[in-house]
Amino acid sequence: MAQKEKVYSQVEEAEEIVKELCKVYPDELWPVRPDNVVVLGIENKERGEKSKTLAKVIPIKGAEKAVFQINNVPVRYIIELYWSDWNVWCMAVKEAIIFHELLHIDPEIGKTIRHDCEDFRMMIDAMGVDWSSKGDSLPRLLGDEKIKFNLDLRPSVTETAEGDEIPEGPKEEKEEEEKPTEDADELF
Ligand SMILES: [Zn+2]
Repeated sequence: MAQKEKVYSQVEEAEEIVKELCKVYPDELWPVRPDNVVVLGIENKERGEKSKTLAKVIPIKGAEKAVFQINNVPVRYIIELYWSDWNVWCMAVKEAIIFHELLHIDPEIGKTIRHDCEDFRMMIDAMGVDWSSKGDSLPRLLGDEKIKFNLDLRPSVTETAEGDEIPEGPKEEKEEEEKPTEDADELF
């Protein structure tokens, strides 16, 4: 069955955030040129309830890239998100999500970078993102005291705990594997 075609409009507020982030974080976001990035909001659809993909970066490729170049359109990446999400996210979430998406932009223009970290949020939350390289400073799971985990972050209950701030889960990573060019990121 044919899917309803998505209707997009430009999210100007998000593009302002792109510019500001690049200004304030030039070292972190050095591969990003704000002119190359457009942010589009989907108007006629909402994110699926189970989808933790809050936003994604789509590199412009192939025929579209050619058309853009012929017409001197500098856009090389589209950040795609849902207006229904954008309208309810607070500024901190908006900025973090845009920052996250910009980190996917590769220094080689047109390419994207995959996440360098795949883990369970419950472990990262309690033990740090770099827990596996902490050596002796890593708290013992089976020491005198139990490690206190945030049970809302258990992978088995993420569906019920789902909220704006939830980073993309492993499912999205799988999608990335299957369609590296199209869905090269998802957010969060
Ligand atoms: Zn991502």
